[in-house]
Amino acid sequence: MVDLKGQYAKIKEEVDAGIQQVIDSTTFIKGGKVSDFQEHLEKYLNVKHVIPVGNGTDALQIALMALDLKPGDEVIAPTFTFIATAEVIALLQLTPVLVDVDSATFNMTAKAFQNAITPRTKAVIPVHLFGQNAPMEEILQIAAENNIVVIEDACQSIGAHYTFSDNRRVQSGCMGQVGCTSFFPSKNLGCFGDGGALFTNDDVLAGRIRSIANHGMETRYYHDHVGVNSRLDSIQAAILDIKLKHLDEYAASRRYAADYYDKAFANHPSLIVPARTDYSEHVFHQYTLQLVNADRQALINYLAEKGIPAMIYYPVPVHRQKAYKSEKYMQGDFPVAEKLSSTVFSLPMHTELSEEQLNYITTTLLSFF
Ligand SMILES: *Cc1c(COP(=O)(O)O)cnc(C)c1O
Repeated sequence: MVDLKGQYAKIKEEVDAGIQQVIDSTTFIKGGKVSDFQEHLEKYLNVKHVIPVGNGTDALQIALMALDLKPGDEVIAPTFTFIATAEVIALLQLTPVLVDVDSATFNMTAKAFQNAITPRTKAVIPVHLFGQNAPMEEILQIAAENNIVVIEDACQSIGAHYTFSDNRRVQSGCMGQVGCTSFFPSKNLGCFGDGGALFTNDDVLAGRIRSIANHGMETRYYHDHVGVNSRLDSIQAAILDIKLKHLDEYAASRRYAADYYDKAFANHPSLIVPARTDYSEHVFHQYTLQLVNADRQALINYLAEKGIPAMIYYPVPVHRQKAYKSEKYMQGDFPVAEKLSSTVFSLPMHTELSEEQLNYITTTLLSFF
């Protein structure tokens, strides 16, 4: 599904030197490498504050902690997502209110968000799934009208610009009050372990987030909030600082592969290619097709026999997960998410796909039918 070895080989010298510098400095935590990367990412995203943390799930949790919500406050999130989005809401004793998604883009719709708002709604977490932004212009407007904080889950979408109707272009994760991303190795900007970050243009919120990520500390050993310990280490920051310079070129490689797939599959009666919108760039964290009137497992087995991996993101929506089922949600409540979870499959998508590989993958897949 990914080719991290091929990607590393191209930048090996620089990355190895960066790692060695950290080892020589023995500043493994909070070194200059972390502040360098933070500054460079702020510049790349055109955002006032980047706060590096331990992983993307921590970023989401810390974002919610910084809002000072009360148990039972409601947070709206899509049901078709990676579990972390809903997990942090439940973990903090807040109430996840799940909503359905759009069948073409896989993202939460503004309408579903609007319909789920109650007097207890305090925040919404739109997820920019598979690398394409949710319809943020409408979501931000509805949120503002209802005094709801917007936390973007940009774990799969770093680098994807959103274009507003006044032509303003804003980076994914930098549109709401706070954005969260993950540097998990297979993410679009991945390190060699765990990592994550929060983005915000709000100085006060940035201060709270920094403090919560550091044991709720404002002045050393004086703890004003209950916090957590979550940080990006210097070795990961050194690697990320090097890879950040290649992020746009990585996105272009992903888009090249996606275009190739689109061209091969666009007119096939059993395949629906991922929709692209005019308001968002797509950085293709995943290339996800829907299979119509065919046996998905048989297709995946067929591909596996020919040496082609395929994955299902995600086979069970949040509201059908054992840990999150409740009387509130019945099977059939979110028909689009339920349908998607039984029809989607994702093909290899990374920065190192050659024309030869793409040709093999597309012709093999088409030969299944
Ligand atoms: C990867 C991911 C996360 C969690 O990131 P980690 O760094 O693995 O904790 C959260 N949300 C989405 C949508 C993700 O894809």
